[in-house]
Amino acid sequence: AKETGRNNFQFYTSEMNERALERLRIEGDLRNALERNEFVLYYQPQVDLRTREIVGVEALIRWQHPEFGMVPPIRFIGLAEETGLIVPIGAWAIQEACRQCKKWQKEGLGHPRVAVNLSARQFTQQDLVDCVAAALNETGLAAEYLEIELTESLVMADVDHAIGILRELKALGVQLSIDDFGTGYSSLSYLKRFPIDVLKIDRSFVNDITIDPDDAAIVASIISLAHSLRLQVIAEGVETIEQLGYLRKHECDQIQGYFFSRPIPAEAMGRMLQDGHRL
Ligand code: C2E
Ligand code: CA
Ligand code: CA
Ligand code: CA
Repeated sequence: AKETGRNNFQFYTSEMNERALERLRIEGDLRNALERNEFVLYYQPQVDLRTREIVGVEALIRWQHPEFGMVPPIRFIGLAEETGLIVPIGAWAIQEACRQCKKWQKEGLGHPRVAVNLSARQFTQQDLVDCVAAALNETGLAAEYLEIELTESLVMADVDHAIGILRELKALGVQLSIDDFGTGYSSLSYLKRFPIDVLKIDRSFVNDITIDPDDAAIVASIISLAHSLRLQVIAEGVETIEQLGYLRKHECDQIQGYFFSRPIPAEAMGRMLQDGHRL
């Protein structure tokens, strides 16, 4: 037993060292990734349930690592937050999403909004509003086509600060949405005070709507709550026709998920817009 214990201990230390080393590697690489142009944005369509048309796209970052291949955000966003690198990376993502959206418009591919995710660290950065304004100015994208996705925990961390920033962003003319709605620590009374346009129902509720009556009830309630507050609702993570049916019955406005499309590269997204691809 003692021996097993010692072996286990050795096993764990070497594994931990390896992890620590990999982390150091990634951190170092992360610092250079922007200069080397290694980040890319994929786009996932959001479709309107009434018109069946693509009305928006969410920009989702990936890291095209020279050695590890396509690295998903879950592997590096946390580290980027800890190191503060999320601020320049996030600024790049806002700029790039605006540029791409404007490009689609110029090519006559319609006028979907583009949604960009914001991390907590960016939200507390001094010049966030200037950064968003600069992206719109430099790319020529009209503000109404940019949507900024925030999470409940991000806005609830410092409510007064959040309301100030959100009002400034709203004054620019951008759309604001609450991502992963229902999973965070939120207070419904604040929902009224925040100048929000859209609620995005988290995938975890949508997942089981056709099998778990509690999740079904939560989703129906969020939709009706949103509508009584004059907000739009997007259901995330829609994978099946049964889920779609439930959401349609309960008059959800838009859906996003693998059922319609996975996140795809910009060129593929452009073709989908060109083809007038519908639900
Ligand atoms: P999120 O904002 O909640 O984005 C939705 C995630 O769900 C995406 O994962 C998307 O690929 C995935 N998804 C979409 N539809 C389905 C579905 O039908 N089924 C399932 N199982 N999954 C679906 P992804 O692209 O790996 O992004 C993960 C998270 O990374 C995002 O979650 C967001 O929090 C963060 N992230 C992505 N891009 C950025 C960025 O530019 N900046 C910041 N700060 N965070 C980002
Ligand atoms: Ca999001
Ligand atoms: Ca989400
Ligand atoms: Ca999420």
